[in-house]
Amino acid sequence: MAREGAKDYGTVRQEHTEAWEARWEKADVVITGDSAAQQGIRYNIFQLFSTYYGEDSRLNVGPKGFTGEKYGGATYWDTEAFILPMYLALTSEEVPRNLLKYRYNQLAEAKMNAQKIGLPGALYPMVTFTGIECHNEWEITFEEIHRNGTMAYAIYNYVNYTGDTKYLAEYGLEVLIEISRFWAGRVHLSERLDRYMIHGVTGPNEYENNVNNNWFTNYLAVWTLSYTLQQLEDEDFARFGITEDEVRVWRDIVKRMYFPYDEKWQIFVQHDTFLDKELRPADTLRETDLPLNQNWSWDKILRSCFIKQADVLQGIYYFGDNFDFDTKQRNFEFYEPLTVHESSLSPSVHAVLASELGKEEKAVEMYERTARLDLDNYNNDTDDGLHITSMAGSWLSIVQGFAGMRVRAGKLHFDPFLPKGWTEYAFKINFRKSLIQVSVKDEETVLTLLDGAPLVVKVYGEERQLDQAQVFSK
Ligand code: BGC
Repeated sequence: MAREGAKDYGTVRQEHTEAWEARWEKADVVITGDSAAQQGIRYNIFQLFSTYYGEDSRLNVGPKGFTGEKYGGATYWDTEAFILPMYLALTSEEVPRNLLKYRYNQLAEAKMNAQKIGLPGALYPMVTFTGIECHNEWEITFEEIHRNGTMAYAIYNYVNYTGDTKYLAEYGLEVLIEISRFWAGRVHLSERLDRYMIHGVTGPNEYENNVNNNWFTNYLAVWTLSYTLQQLEDEDFARFGITEDEVRVWRDIVKRMYFPYDEKWQIFVQHDTFLDKELRPADTLRETDLPLNQNWSWDKILRSCFIKQADVLQGIYYFGDNFDFDTKQRNFEFYEPLTVHESSLSPSVHAVLASELGKEEKAVEMYERTARLDLDNYNNDTDDGLHITSMAGSWLSIVQGFAGMRVRAGKLHFDPFLPKGWTEYAFKINFRKSLIQVSVKDEETVLTLLDGAPLVVKVYGEERQLDQAQVFSK
């Protein structure tokens, strides 16, 4: 029986079709010359937008969306690390802002999480619905604290992309201060080395637990403290009750944090004892060993050198502009061969870094792995549900990876290459109320302003004003 006032099927169908047409119009990535690559990215965009389109700040994105029960529909750090950057470029500013507000609205619960383990400030949960930590494994709840720094990083990422500094004053700063307070309580001073340290953590690489001085976590802690300090205006001290003593401690931690580094390899060390492991590349593993998490005992995995997902490289990805080319290259060449990419979040980070380092073949291999992870069941776990949050990673692999998109000092930069076998690829992005199209061929890249005010862009190192279309030659 039809409800009074209910729309008939034809109208609902029409509205649905129009809504999807509008989404595709903006978000489609068109790849010519490689239908498998094309199918992968379209499949992922469709799954992502079917899961979440950001109308409601009470909602978030579960790693499996609505396609499987694993992860229980809860919210993970995946949102801030992977979903946010894509939605920044493809949806209205409201959507990423809603994602940030989701965490802002759960600040009281995050403070309770910290309090429960005897620490100050806010500890955002690894897994949650309400802001209260819902995971049941100690090595994740207490130890994977890089998610807390990722909440701070997401605020920076949003402000850097949109230029919406008002968000900081209205909401962001409060979150940053509480996360900073957490870090200040979580570090300890090693008197022996006269350096601050963070012991007892699990980095993004969940194939090790309870390690000391995970480089990425230590880096995030210091970065959060210094970013927060930079944002503070005079009136904020009284407004948030920040004491001089607190500021002194934050500055001291920034100055004297310990970062494991190896002189021989000249790399950041994943954690204090990582290099004492028996090191051998993942390509020496037998096919029957893979995936390790379905074939090896847990203790064997934990003792091995094999890395589940980007860890040091996650930090280099977040803060790419803080490291020079050689540093990135050395770390990539050391860690990637040890990585088994058994988290769906891993390949895209490697695709972006490999692209930047000119390792085109590796970048494409990693793209295929992220874009077709479920279509080809790479990790033999698609029956658990689709890897929704990592699907954003396939978009990042193309846009930040192959096209080299970065935002520096309020300007868009690109440094594109065309993957072998492709003849062209094209996508659109929002940037600060302008809509632009980027299409990349082998020897040239065309940027077209489709809507909004002209803006300055930099492609292959050449800066130009983009009014209508501009052709950049490689
Ligand atoms: C990864 C985590 C991730 C979670 C949900 C795990 O396998 O190691 O980093 O948050 O999956 O995607």
